[in-house]
Amino acid sequence: MSEATTPATEAVPEKRDFIRQIVREDLASGKHTAIKTRFPPEPNGYLHIGHAKAICLDFGIAAEFGGRCNLRFDDTNPAKEDPEFVRAIQDDVRWLGFEWASLRHASDYFEVYYLAAEKLIKDGKAYVCDLSPEEVRAYRGTLTEPGRESPYRNRSVEENLDLFRRMRAGEFPDGSRTLRARIDMASGNINMRDPALYRIKHVEHQNTGNAWPIYPMYDFAHSLGDAIEGITHSLCTLEFEDHRPLYDWCVDNVDLAGHPELLEPLKAKGLPIEAAKPRQIEFSRLNINYTVMSKRKLTQLVAEGLVDGWDDPRMYTLQGLRRRGYTPAALRLLVDRVGISKQNSVIDFSVLEGCLREDLDATAPRRMAVIDPLKLVLTNLAEDHEESLSFPNHPKDEAQGQRQVPFSRELWIEREDFAEVPPKGWKRLVPGGEARLRGAGIVRIDEVVKDEAGNVVELRGWLDPESRPGMEGANRKVKGTIHWVSARHAVAAEIRLYDRLFLVEKPDDESDGKTYRDHLNPDSKKIVRGWVEPAAAGAAPEQSFQFERTGYFVADRYDHRADAPVFNRSVTLRDTWAG
Ligand code: ATP
Ligand code: MG
Repeated sequence: MSEATTPATEAVPEKRDFIRQIVREDLASGKHTAIKTRFPPEPNGYLHIGHAKAICLDFGIAAEFGGRCNLRFDDTNPAKEDPEFVRAIQDDVRWLGFEWASLRHASDYFEVYYLAAEKLIKDGKAYVCDLSPEEVRAYRGTLTEPGRESPYRNRSVEENLDLFRRMRAGEFPDGSRTLRARIDMASGNINMRDPALYRIKHVEHQNTGNAWPIYPMYDFAHSLGDAIEGITHSLCTLEFEDHRPLYDWCVDNVDLAGHPELLEPLKAKGLPIEAAKPRQIEFSRLNINYTVMSKRKLTQLVAEGLVDGWDDPRMYTLQGLRRRGYTPAALRLLVDRVGISKQNSVIDFSVLEGCLREDLDATAPRRMAVIDPLKLVLTNLAEDHEESLSFPNHPKDEAQGQRQVPFSRELWIEREDFAEVPPKGWKRLVPGGEARLRGAGIVRIDEVVKDEAGNVVELRGWLDPESRPGMEGANRKVKGTIHWVSARHAVAAEIRLYDRLFLVEKPDDESDGKTYRDHLNPDSKKIVRGWVEPAAAGAAPEQSFQFERTGYFVADRYDHRADAPVFNRSVTLRDTWAG
């Protein structure tokens, strides 16, 4: 799926959410002359559909306002991180149609963080604390009770500097000490009760190796990372709202802009110096029913073998959705439709599917494929009858041109398009009845062939030679039209019929003692052997089609081959879950 255009160049109506309004005002007032954002994933798992919202917002705003957006890996927690995730995240961002101004890692700034910590110590704003993790918790207090000050809080600057340098030198074991900000143990905001800035962790890091036995904490590293890169608007989800005072405290008290010496290590790395005061703005997460979205649960689904890997087409990872046949345009449409606000809400899964249908209806070429085949022999055609019929690739888009579809005496049709005993209102094939074969004429069923067990194994019929579309004989009143493929020309295909992974709206809800594992849809994956017309078999991997009357399908990104086609059902033509 090549996507030449980015959202910046698409003719979309101007977006007016509260964050874009703030950005507009900041440009109008001259507070900023250029906008800079960042997308800061932790490389501890694959990105999921929720991240698409953050990506479209961070990169989208930069593009819309002529600004820049960095991709920054928040790699401050080495034990859980993996280069495989780093590669996949870059792949996902580009697939969504975005490109970063600069690729960064929090670990690029470890030296700056360290100097910033020493500065806070020298200013009396940070201290080395010897309380154990349990003691720290006990001293912290609760929402209703203030915390108690650590007995180490009033160490001298000299002692703190000495201990912190020895922490950095690797002298102390994991968990034995922390560097804490000296803020306010009585603060109503627990995040401000002398939060840890550094912890000791003798763990190898994928970028810095064994250079560091201490690692910065998220709030410290993230806020300073934003300041280092000159981020103007630091956009994040609502759960960080309570962290904003700490974010601002770190930015203000380190004051990188006023202390350029702290940024010296960037020069050695050839990184530009753009320090500025960033503003954190929170927005609500994307939540969708029938899904689980936390990295932890997605990891468990893979680890426990409940799905076939991170990119299983039923997964709500971007890699999974991509393999399922979701398009970047469909996901961007979803994000636009959901909008940006501070209101938490849960989006119905049908909105996601609707966005995909909308995109594919407009763009996907049409093809014919039979997924539950029944043989139909047209007895009045010669054994070697063979012709090539011309079909439009898209009914509403002439620019997509035409394709040739081979037609012959023996066809595969869909088993469900024939009924020996039709229900009321049935318009398709019955014994002795007529239906249109898409683009080929009207067929009448003369004979139903059965096996010994009484199963229908073949239909034999008569094709009215005067009933081709456009001919006089085609004007007869025959209501049903069915699709088909020529048995001699069709290519056998593996067709993977995917459906929602969970049966219930809130798989995360454990109030009845069940977990999301208990809500897996046993019918979320069915593999069948079908037949596709040659023009579908020759598709490139990731090419999407509408298989007429059947659904939207994509040629599997990894397994599809022209001589052994594999198609994944992306979405049905209509919502089958409604009501
Ligand atoms: P999760 O909690 O789902 O495992 P995370 O928040 O730990 O994800 P990060 O790598 O820290 O994942 O996220 C990178 C960015 O994506 C953050 O700015 C975060 O706010 C944003 N993000 C994560 N989940 C969502 C979501 N559901 N909707 C919108 N933005 C999200
Ligand atoms: Mg996170």
